[in-house]
Amino acid sequence: MHRPIVYLVGAGPGDPGLLTLRGRECLEAADFVLYDQLVSPQILRFAPAGAELMCVRELASSHPDRWPQIHVKLIDEAKQGKCVVRLKGGDPLIFGRGGEEAEALRAAGIPYEIVPGVTAALAAGSYLEIPLTHRTHSSAVALITGHEHPGKPSSKLDWKAIAAFPGTLVVYMGFSRLGSIVPELIRFGKSPKTPVAAVTRASCGEQQTVVATLETIEADVVSAGLTTPALLLIGPVVGLKPAVSWFEGRPLLGSRILVTRPRKQALDFIHQLELRGGIAVTLPVIDIRPPESWSEVDTAQEAIARGAFDWLIFTSANGVEHFFERLASRGLDTRSLGKTRLAVIGTATAAKLAEYRLRADVAPEAGMNSEALLDELRERANGKRILLAQVAEGRDVLRNQLAAIADVSTVAAYRQQVVVNADHKAFGLLRRGEIDFVTLTSPNIARAFMNACDDTIRGRIERGEIRLAANSGRCAVAIRDANLFAAIVSEAPTSASLIEAMELAFRPTA
Ligand code: SAH
Repeated sequence: MHRPIVYLVGAGPGDPGLLTLRGRECLEAADFVLYDQLVSPQILRFAPAGAELMCVRELASSHPDRWPQIHVKLIDEAKQGKCVVRLKGGDPLIFGRGGEEAEALRAAGIPYEIVPGVTAALAAGSYLEIPLTHRTHSSAVALITGHEHPGKPSSKLDWKAIAAFPGTLVVYMGFSRLGSIVPELIRFGKSPKTPVAAVTRASCGEQQTVVATLETIEADVVSAGLTTPALLLIGPVVGLKPAVSWFEGRPLLGSRILVTRPRKQALDFIHQLELRGGIAVTLPVIDIRPPESWSEVDTAQEAIARGAFDWLIFTSANGVEHFFERLASRGLDTRSLGKTRLAVIGTATAAKLAEYRLRADVAPEAGMNSEALLDELRERANGKRILLAQVAEGRDVLRNQLAAIADVSTVAAYRQQVVVNADHKAFGLLRRGEIDFVTLTSPNIARAFMNACDDTIRGRIERGEIRLAANSGRCAVAIRDANLFAAIVSEAPTSASLIEAMELAFRPTA
């Protein structure tokens, strides 16, 4: 049992990469995590699998910020001896009530630590390329709340002093009050021509910016349809913003991409999409499971250890992982393979073998498909004994082709299970046309996805409003067999190639 402790951790402004290393350490030690609604799921995954995750939204309360239920919950959980993380957007002590939470913990005698986070203003500065301070334009920054506590007298903020502030103003939560903030600043002497930027969801794929002046910002924000959470940056430094910041130039910025591959394999793919500005929505349609029984694998491994096979072939990273994890769980290691030669299809499969310090004797660079493998094996494995380790529902094409040149046995190292949840929020997004691309990375995944589509979604796909992105010709064929079409087919069956193809389709001129 831990010493009871609560970490008030700043999760940063949205981009999961902006969490601090200390924040990640705290999450990795957490038993219980209470997080704000806007915190990225990519950050929550740093918590151990067994930790309880709760969104503040789930706390019963009539107050929109669930206060003071948050204090009660943090204290209760810590008193049970748990390591508690309170994960808050941006920095915990900037307009986040973190101060009040720390105070409540102190009063209850619970030890705590505060881990700062990147506050929205700093993220907006970097991601829009607006230097909040600048030697010639601004020597000070003011962080201001545009949303006064309902109980406070409205005179709490001195707009005269704010208008006279000699530096950059950053207004949090000021969106709904733009109509009173702007006239107030002008009334107290700020030039109507002062440059202003409004930014929604800075640092995320959804980031949207409007640059205007004090006198035009309100109308421009309305016509651009900007929503909350948003910040206003006011001052001459806004004029230094390049037309397209380094982040605004990201090739997939704002594109909404459905990721259908199994959860475990989706993480790296999602990271790659987010680095390019894409907004990943996850809807796993199949899950990777161990075989119903291991007996077939065990028998095959015993046969390999006796030298019964000359070649062992893997067609996927999942096959490699399940095969060798099973070997290890039987108290054995790769020495069981003896002189058995190894062949793989796909760079990811070869990379997974390398994790077990094994090098494939045959790993076709070109094509990365069964035909390429067959070409290489035709000479080397002629008349030999081959074991093909693949998915339980594996297609027989490779087996049949190999059977023409060698003595082939197969073993099902894992299986795929369709896990589509028809109530998943992704289906609503698809029906409303709020998804740009659906990534389909195997024929099985494609079939499972298309089976789950209703007529509304199919209609949007047929009209090209939602584009299916397939990572192989085989996958495109599976799509065609369901009377739909793949708008995008990547050159190679890799994530990198699929992402490149989507970039081209999203911004053809980029
Ligand atoms: N503690 C947070 C602020 C919480 S108040 C921080 O340090 O950033 C919530 C307000 O922060 C929102 O209404 C909005 O004004 C601002 N905000 C938070 N994240 C933002 C983002 N990614 N882009 C723009 N504004 C953001």
